[in-house]
Amino acid sequence: MLDTVVVGGGVVGAACALTLAQAGLGVALVEGREPAQWSAAEPDLRVFAIAPDNADLLESLGAWNGVLGRRAHAYRRMRVWDAAGGGELGFDSDALGRQQLGWIVENSLLQERMWSLLAGAGVQVLCPARVESMEQDESSVRLRLEDGTRLQSRLAIAADGAQSTLRELAGLQVSAHDYRQRGVVAFVQTTGSHEDTAWQRFLPGGPLAFLPFSEGRSSIVWTLPEAEAERVLSIDDAVLGRELTNASQARLGEVTPVSERAAFPLRRQLAKDYVAGRVLVVGDAAHVVHPLAGQGVNLGLRDVSGLHASIVDAQARGVAWDAPHRLSRWSRTRRSENAAAAYTFDAINRLFSNEEMHSSLLRGPLLGLAGRVPGLANAFWRRASGL
Ligand SMILES: Cc1cc2nc3c(=O)[nH]c(=O)nc-3n(C[C@H](O)[C@H](O)[C@H](O)COP(=O)(O)OP(=O)(O)OC[C@H]3O[C@@H](n4cnc5c(N)ncnc54)[C@H](O)[C@@H]3O)c2cc1C
Repeated sequence: MLDTVVVGGGVVGAACALTLAQAGLGVALVEGREPAQWSAAEPDLRVFAIAPDNADLLESLGAWNGVLGRRAHAYRRMRVWDAAGGGELGFDSDALGRQQLGWIVENSLLQERMWSLLAGAGVQVLCPARVESMEQDESSVRLRLEDGTRLQSRLAIAADGAQSTLRELAGLQVSAHDYRQRGVVAFVQTTGSHEDTAWQRFLPGGPLAFLPFSEGRSSIVWTLPEAEAERVLSIDDAVLGRELTNASQARLGEVTPVSERAAFPLRRQLAKDYVAGRVLVVGDAAHVVHPLAGQGVNLGLRDVSGLHASIVDAQARGVAWDAPHRLSRWSRTRRSENAAAAYTFDAINRLFSNEEMHSSLLRGPLLGLAGRVPGLANAFWRRASGL
């Protein structure tokens, strides 16, 4: 019998499989499709702002050097300002005594680096393979895959994304809220330097972020109401460039789109519990949050670190690492942290993404105040980035 089956080999599932294998557990990873290969010439449109604590996790897995050696852009500052005017909020790595606030990294590169380590870590990889059914009792979980393969393990971990099949098979409920917004992503070239800074301007339709990706190039995430996102997907590059230059008040100079565009539906979705017997949920299977703070994958990787810490602690004490009270404690801690993050991003999105008078009057001064109260911005940043 295996110790753990991880279902879903995205960034969170692959990190989970690796970290549990490194803790000495017998692990299988079930993934529905071959991961996309990273390409130096054609960057992946899905990029993440990886926080320092998660860079440490990836380092401990042996994946981080391979990421840094290929393509990761350190960002040292963050600037947030509002279309309604007023203050500006800034975070600087120098003030936090760090060389950087985090790194902008492509999804496919992270996934590829971790997948390259799976076999060496002893993880049994089943791909392409999908879970069809699940049964469990007090001592084990039995999974049947669509090709008829059967797996038995002490735990099964759902890391199969927002539409998680395993979460549903385990009967774990979610509460969901559709923002009726989409996140439009693309790469752009700018005539001015991005200054190794993540820029975000709050506009009535939603925030527009520029994440520094390479010299002269940024990755944009533009949150827009659904119909507006459709329009932005269909306009030509020259028009989009002008709109982005205006929307960013030319803080990075003139903007020219240099890639295809994609759009993702945005919602908040929270599993009501992270454990059902011997099935756990992590990553987007457990929580989907608004992308305005770039925390989605970071929260998922923290689910993994928390689980790893609980298992290693049990091993050190010589007690059962899969005891129900341990799993419940992990679930409670992660659920409250992730829900707090989700509702904070929700409140920010509500306050900033509208044109109502009382909100506009509040926003600018609020950002200015947050920037002026000594230590407040830095305290917020430390909390968000796991520093
Ligand atoms: C516009 C946008 C911008 C974002 N920006 C950021 C950012 O800057 N920083 C950040 O941290 N996050 C960001 N996010 C969020 C981030 O994309 C997700 O939080 C993250 O990808 C979740 O990773 P995951 O591994 O949990 O899930 P996924 O990446 O969805 O992986 C799930 C995996 O499970 C597999 N799978 C699915 N079903 C099955 C099945 N039945 N059987 C087997 N395998 C299955 C899939 O093939 C996939 O490989 C952003 C999201 C959006 C929409």
